[in-house]
Amino acid sequence: MSDKKKDKVPFKRALKNNIYMLKIAYNSDKRMVIMRLVMGFFTGLNHGVSIFFINEILNALDRGDSLGYIFTVVGLMGLYTLAYELYFAWYYKLYFPYHKLNFIRLIHKSFFVKASDIDLSCYDTPEFYNDFIYSMQNCDKSITKTVDQLGDLIRALVASISVVAVILTVDPIIAAVIFGFAVVDMIIRLFQNGIYYRYNIKMNELWRKSWYIERFFSLADYAKEIRLTDVKENLLIEYDKTMLEQRRAEVRLEIKTGGLNFLAAFLGYGLTVFILLFMGYKLMVTGTVLIGGFTVAITASWKLKHLMYDIQSKFVEMNKDSLYADKVRKFLETEPQIKGGEIVLTEFESLEFKNVSFAYKEENVLENVSFKVDKGERIAFVGYNGAGKTTTTKLIMRLYDVTEGEILINGINIKEYTLESLREKMGAVFQDYKVFAATVAENVLGELYTNEKEKTVLSALDDATFGDKLTGLENGIHTELTREFYDNGTNLSGGENQKIAIARVFAHNNELIIMDEPSSALDPIAEYNLNVGIDKNAKGKTVVFITHRLSTTRHVNRIYMFEKGKIIESGSHEELIRRGGKYCQMFELQAQKYRA
Ligand code: ADP
Repeated sequence: MSDKKKDKVPFKRALKNNIYMLKIAYNSDKRMVIMRLVMGFFTGLNHGVSIFFINEILNALDRGDSLGYIFTVVGLMGLYTLAYELYFAWYYKLYFPYHKLNFIRLIHKSFFVKASDIDLSCYDTPEFYNDFIYSMQNCDKSITKTVDQLGDLIRALVASISVVAVILTVDPIIAAVIFGFAVVDMIIRLFQNGIYYRYNIKMNELWRKSWYIERFFSLADYAKEIRLTDVKENLLIEYDKTMLEQRRAEVRLEIKTGGLNFLAAFLGYGLTVFILLFMGYKLMVTGTVLIGGFTVAITASWKLKHLMYDIQSKFVEMNKDSLYADKVRKFLETEPQIKGGEIVLTEFESLEFKNVSFAYKEENVLENVSFKVDKGERIAFVGYNGAGKTTTTKLIMRLYDVTEGEILINGINIKEYTLESLREKMGAVFQDYKVFAATVAENVLGELYTNEKEKTVLSALDDATFGDKLTGLENGIHTELTREFYDNGTNLSGGENQKIAIARVFAHNNELIIMDEPSSALDPIAEYNLNVGIDKNAKGKTVVFITHRLSTTRHVNRIYMFEKGKIIESGSHEELIRRGGKYCQMFELQAQKYRA
């Protein structure tokens, strides 16, 4: 169904989405959800019960009942109120604050697990990515709110029913009139609801824009670009435009809903006048109602007016939440397309690309790529930026799947292996390597540190040429990296972070190592030492380099020169130089720089 069509049945859709959110809440913490709904029920009942007692006390006074009876009714009312207030205080002051955090923890964790599972290609779709970030940031508030809304809705419904039930005991005609008013009021509110729903859809689009701009100015990632380019000017203009549209939408909303509010208020006023006249007549002229009934009818009609408004506003909120729930559903219902097979990869023997083509979107970024590498060999992908080298390594790791052709490991299609066993055999230093908010040791191990792993960590760091830096760190391998968690955490330089990422590969016994520009942030001496480290650690292992450094390409078994997604030359450094092709030109250009 198209989105437009879906929007024509806002109520049904909102209901479904809210049920979806409730299911998440219920599956995370059943008890808390039930307690909240029970709370709603008792708060609602309290409305009916309180006017029931007031009715009885006033009538007793009117009838001239004994003081003992009146005190009994007042006592019962006090007991009920006390029990209710105790439950209320227990729930909000003790139960909810304590359980809420656990509830949030469970919801967040399920989101984290899902986020680790989705395909990398999801990050390439801006709409999905925006919704994904939004879902992650707001999931706890929104899911808790959905439960609250339902609790409040139950409260308002139970209150309305109990109030009408009490009036029934006073006068059925008044009960019928009040009920009729409630129905008409509800219809007006439903109209209003549709207006709010369309407003929320419109605002959602506008919010997304302004939200992006707000992020742009607040995130550290953009801070450098903001200072060095004029991109902020365009965004500021766009921000003004978006905010103007938001203001216009707001005014339109207020005019439309204000008109309907006026109609509802007018009807409510008519109802009060009718009750005053009708019940006044019965009280003063025919004497068929007592003062309690008169008071209760008036109070109940006012109460009901508020309750109707309350119910409607809950529906409005549910509609709003439904838009959010859409994002959460999209995110949680996205099934990873990259799924593992059945075979467990136990030992790596060979990797072969057979006529592989690949497109991120429509256009192929790799075309007909074929090569083979055997265990223990080292190969290098070279070529200009955008030629497809990194993409090729992403296909090896199954971060994406080929569009055409096949990738074989040990002669078997890579898709047949379980993802865990496949990725366990591979270690990678990515071009955009990341260091986490954890200790040096945990960063290298990628898991919790124990004393017996000390040697592995130290040796990996040493081979990654981080040894000198390490001796300068007061807490050695227990130094906290980044200042995300600790104000006294250590922020490393780009080159030092890269060494940590390299040490991570050295610390694991991966059989196939992928190194995407491993020395891009290193100085020449560190680069030389790193090559020594690689020689030591990668003995007998298969290594795929992406590099522009001749110090690396000179020593590999084969070089594959990429251009516009194709392999245009392959062979050893000497062979390619003799051939005098594109690789040779690149080599010459680089060599000139050093000679000049
Ligand atoms: P190289 O590593 O040789 O510099 P890449 O493999 O990173 O090249 O990129 C090859 C092409 O694919 C480039 O045109 C690049 O813009 C494009 N590309 C890379 N990543 C993505 C992506 N996530 N979505 C769309 N296009 C991409």
